[in-house]
Amino acid sequence: MTLAPVMIKRNGAEIFQYWEFKNQSYLWDTNFIPPLALKSFRDSLENELGQDTFNLISTMLAYQSASYPSVKTDNGDSINAQLIHSNTVGKIRPINFLEAQLLNYQLSRYPLLSHPTEFHGMILMHDTLNLIKVYFAASDQPWPPKPAVILEAMQKDLQQGWIFRSHLHNHYEPKAHHFLGILAPSMTDAQYYQFLAEDYKVEQALITNGCHTLEIRKDEFQKLVLPDDH
Ligand SMILES: [Zn+2]
Repeated sequence: MTLAPVMIKRNGAEIFQYWEFKNQSYLWDTNFIPPLALKSFRDSLENELGQDTFNLISTMLAYQSASYPSVKTDNGDSINAQLIHSNTVGKIRPINFLEAQLLNYQLSRYPLLSHPTEFHGMILMHDTLNLIKVYFAASDQPWPPKPAVILEAMQKDLQQGWIFRSHLHNHYEPKAHHFLGILAPSMTDAQYYQFLAEDYKVEQALITNGCHTLEIRKDEFQKLVLPDDH
């Protein structure tokens, strides 16, 4: 995506911006040449862990099967992870072109291995205009900034024929856990999804770790554990 973003607000290292472009089928392809910063993230991981370990971890994180052994736990984050891996909630697939471009954008600002960060991406669609609009919020911190200015802008879009197709964010782990992020929503993520569904009619939530992406439909949000449940 060499398209220049439109800046909504900048506050130190925090950026709030969007891109608008034509909806084309290659955006959703899972077969593509990885953009530079994402490729270098994967290459560094392979170097650090060895190719076999890297492949094994990446495959394990993407595992979904009804025979996934369930462990009794009170930890809501772990329960959410089990819902994903037991194939009860969500679907894990390879990362697609658009998600890779968005992650790549943030990774070229801060390489994930040396300076881990998380971004928010809000993907909107306009069917009659055949357009995609992606709002993006990120900073230099491990957590994304509160996207109030984006939600405000989105409110206007939603009244003008846009639909909120997906909320996307990335997960990573510290070095001790081999860097690759888990493909499951935390309780806080699940709470946020509920808010986005109620107030902004989001259709699905996406979590990517740079190799795979988890998709959760809005009708599945209610199965997830929220902080209030504990
Ligand atoms: Zn998360």
